[in-house]
Amino acid sequence: MQKDRTAIAKKKFGQNFLKDEAVLAQIIQSMPDTPNRIAEIGPGLGDLTKYLVDVKSVTAFEVDTDLCKHLKHQFADAIATEALTLRCGDVLEHWKSELLDEPYDLVANLPYYIATNIILKALADPACKNLLVMIQREVAEKFSAAPNERAFGALSVIAQSVGDVSIVLHVPPSAFEPAPKVDSAVLLISKRSNRNDEGFEEFLRSAFTQPRKTLHKNLTSRYGVAEIESAFSTLELERTLRPHQLSTLDFHRLYSILK
Ligand code: SAM
Repeated sequence: MQKDRTAIAKKKFGQNFLKDEAVLAQIIQSMPDTPNRIAEIGPGLGDLTKYLVDVKSVTAFEVDTDLCKHLKHQFADAIATEALTLRCGDVLEHWKSELLDEPYDLVANLPYYIATNIILKALADPACKNLLVMIQREVAEKFSAAPNERAFGALSVIAQSVGDVSIVLHVPPSAFEPAPKVDSAVLLISKRSNRNDEGFEEFLRSAFTQPRKTLHKNLTSRYGVAEIESAFSTLELERTLRPHQLSTLDFHRLYSILK
């Protein structure tokens, strides 16, 4: 089954199998040093899973029934010793507020079509302690960007409010088979707390509605001008600021005055 990955790959499940052993080794080396169980979303052909089960207990979620059959066979020993727990089905259906009922670190080469959704769910999940995930490079930059950088936006503030965020590795399409059309990156988020309240995230969405307009203007879709003026004056913020020019801390200060 491992031979012709391009023939096996199902586009609808975002299947781009990681074949570069050097990249796999770097993911393993970058894993958070914790006693937590690993949750892997999308083990695929088991290329990353085989290294993960060597170092930690793993629960893996795979939607593709053909791959699930293959994994059950390939990892029969690890499943028997409970080094690996395999859950077949759509991870989003398994995932209520907590994906696992014990602390876990999410380590995965994620299916890109739902990567942002998965990361937001993991940030909100109190059982999830850290994330080390391969995703589309452009999305990784949105989570990791600093104020004043082009990619800085609501996702950067959401992620950086709950943890330390960094890109540990840039990965070219040639590391995968079949090769994706986009560049990839491995993103590390070491969580300090859980996701912000929903009101803060809605506030951020309005703050960044039109990134080229001023923050002041964007906020008028949600708050009265007098309220905004008063909050800006308390925090000594210029009316001409664009949303990407504020720090994460300033967003929290502004929200706590406006809410
Ligand atoms: N981990 C493998 C690797 O690195 O080669 C495969 C990664 S591939 C980018 C994404 C994997 O996620 C595929 O195995 C795909 O079937 C699985 N997947 C896609 N959508 C899923 C979902 N909703 N729930 C669970 N697994 C899913």
